[in-house]
Amino acid sequence: MNSTDGLCSRDLDSVIKTKMSALGIDLGGTKLSAAVVCEHKLVSETRQLPTPSGAQNIIASILELIDHFRGEHLLAGVGIATAGIVNAQTGEVVGSTGNLPGWEGTPIKTIIEGRTMLPVHVENDANAAAYGECRAGHLEGKECIVAVTLGTGIGVGIVLKGQLYRGAHWAAGECGHIRISMDNRRLCTCGLWDCWEAYASGRGLKATAEEMVAGLRPDQSQLAHAACELDTRTIVQAAKNGDTVAKRAMLLWHEHICNGLVCLAHTLDPDCFLVTGGLSQVVDFPLLRELVADRTLSRVCEKLEIHPSILGEAAGMIGAAYLVLDSVVERIGH
Ligand SMILES: [Zn+2]
Repeated sequence: MNSTDGLCSRDLDSVIKTKMSALGIDLGGTKLSAAVVCEHKLVSETRQLPTPSGAQNIIASILELIDHFRGEHLLAGVGIATAGIVNAQTGEVVGSTGNLPGWEGTPIKTIIEGRTMLPVHVENDANAAAYGECRAGHLEGKECIVAVTLGTGIGVGIVLKGQLYRGAHWAAGECGHIRISMDNRRLCTCGLWDCWEAYASGRGLKATAEEMVAGLRPDQSQLAHAACELDTRTIVQAAKNGDTVAKRAMLLWHEHICNGLVCLAHTLDPDCFLVTGGLSQVVDFPLLRELVADRTLSRVCEKLEIHPSILGEAAGMIGAAYLVLDSVVERIGH
């Protein structure tokens, strides 16, 4: 190949990469979201379906979503972000899907490709979100970007020089299960004790507030009121209203988030943590930065950045779509 050919193929690559669109699907425990993605953003409405129970029904819902968007858009592929540990080569969930019973072991990629004749990429949802954030933020050149999704649980995606790091057994980033205490006080949904997500997720914040409120009278805290249903929203609101117990629960929650970030910071020495997921909206970033700086070696934290998500809830869909688009471009290139 001479240099002119090289230039042409690079130009073609960049045109293909920027103009092709793919369907991004985010499969969570309660809902399936899908939208068409092009140029690092959603270019269609987002369509949502409740997540049905059982693998066959989930596959049927995914096919329904693909059919819907295929009618109006030329799709180069389908990217699926799903909860659970995913073998990204075979497109199969290989472990840990407590929220999606029966999903483990389903050959998702093979089934959907066979039914639609479209290229399909299946990825762990936190990995997909990290990849989406990285692409949208033009962070591919950075050494290490870590996206931490704070929701009902905690998911982590690690991107090294623009590529997802998936580990030796596809389970890299299962950091929600890092042990952050030796007290055996909180049992995690995974069956282990004192996992990071048993403290720093939405479920963890609720458990912290419940422990603090136990035995208190309603005049001592809004959260102790019998009519007050403890969830993350009411805790955040009570803290905003100046409730001392709620404020202490929020401070402790930030300490818990910090604990896991400090482990990751010392292990990976990342350029940046991006905090995503529904709960990222109530994170006090100046406070979190201060806590992490206080508990991390200065060499590690000097230039370490901690930022909120760029893409918000669309990160999983956008990341999954870009993973399939990149694989299509790679195939054309060979
Ligand atoms: Zn766990």
